[in-house]
Amino acid sequence: MTGVTFPYDAPASESLFRRALEVTPGGVNSPVRAFRAVGGTPRFMVSGHGAYLVDADGREYVDLVGSWGPMILGHAHPAVVEALHGRVDSGWSFGTPAPTEVELAEEIVARVAPVEQVRFVSSGTEATMSAVRLARGYTGRSKVVKFAGCYHGHVDALLASAGSGLATFGLPDTPGVTGASAADTIVLPYNELTAVRRVFEAVGDQIACVVTEAAAANMGVVPPDPGFNAGLFELCRRNGALFISDEVMTGFRVGPAGWYSLDGVGADLFTFGKVIGGGLPAAAFGGRADVMAMLAPAGPVYQAGTLSGNPMATLAGLTTLRLLDDAVYAQLDATAATVGQLASDALAKAGVAHRLAVAGNLFSLFFVDADVRDYDDARRQETFRYAAFFHALLARGVYLPPSAYEAWFVSAAHDDAAIDRIAEALPDAAHAAAAATPGSVS
Ligand SMILES: *Cc1c(COP(=O)(O)O)cnc(C)c1O
Repeated sequence: MTGVTFPYDAPASESLFRRALEVTPGGVNSPVRAFRAVGGTPRFMVSGHGAYLVDADGREYVDLVGSWGPMILGHAHPAVVEALHGRVDSGWSFGTPAPTEVELAEEIVARVAPVEQVRFVSSGTEATMSAVRLARGYTGRSKVVKFAGCYHGHVDALLASAGSGLATFGLPDTPGVTGASAADTIVLPYNELTAVRRVFEAVGDQIACVVTEAAAANMGVVPPDPGFNAGLFELCRRNGALFISDEVMTGFRVGPAGWYSLDGVGADLFTFGKVIGGGLPAAAFGGRADVMAMLAPAGPVYQAGTLSGNPMATLAGLTTLRLLDDAVYAQLDATAATVGQLASDALAKAGVAHRLAVAGNLFSLFFVDADVRDYDDARRQETFRYAAFFHALLARGVYLPPSAYEAWFVSAAHDDAAIDRIAEALPDAAHAAAAATPGSVS
């Protein structure tokens, strides 16, 4: 390993990581948590409060990952802590219907106008998997259209050209997904409506659904061109296919009704996750009542889950959502704009070519010298610069996603003090990015 220097040791994390490597593949339970793309040892976090995380060595970081989205209020928000304490004292899983899942469903239905009914699951993966099954059951068709660089969880049929960890590790596909389970998946370039139109002309009567991230944020942030989502919805409508808007990341983060707040386009089915569990495992899919009525036990399309709608997880989500009012969204937008601009300014000053990509209060940096509209554009970036930038920030107490292909997440707890700490760390990090050389991270 040359070029990128790891400016300090993390003995407690290193020791934990050695133990983890013995008992867990790659030492982590989700690939992007490993530092493979940036080099070095992942930090094992032991506590979180507000905008900060503390690692096993007792170092504190401003957290710009937020558990990959759920911690929108910051860590250990007092209201969520209080709610969960109350829940623990009275039991937390019954395998029966329970009041909080009704309340959380009502909250979602009230916020997102096109969503008439929802079904809870435990992960975003389950949500998109179930939505695709439902779309196939409803239409009686088999083909699914998705976009290169969009990530919809590790659903077999949707892993082709997926972003997130696959982008991070440069994996085009994954062994273990059979030709049969991917055969009905059609992958098209993001933001290319013409390609979608052509596919509908060719095999429109076989397409069950088009699934897209409401705003792509798993290949870095790549907002939809104006008219792209609306064009997809219209093509689906004209051809009897369903439009699935994957709002697992954007949902209730970029606005009170997620990306739908920003573009008002709508969909037949939506998927949610991340924020709606408030940091506990809850996700959902929902949409038109006549489509949702196809789900068991109301209809014939089977879908189930031992912990679906879990009282603890739905309470964490409900408490979180109820605190997310217009003022909080305005604050999140302002914080995101400030942090993004600070980072971009620091890089510009150090002479590093980059693009600041923004979708509402989600943003990321691409180390490229051209605009990014799709996955091919995103993959032209100089990821070795990100690795140097990442480690310089880590050493200065700022925790970014350990991959150039992930969005940055701010929370309502990111106050001026947290932003100041980021601002102080950025100039050195920008210089590290400028000095980085290719091949410096193994
Ligand atoms: C995170 C994510 C998923 C998968 O959610 P998991 O809870 O990790 O299974 C699906 N779609 C999008 C857009 C996501 O960002």
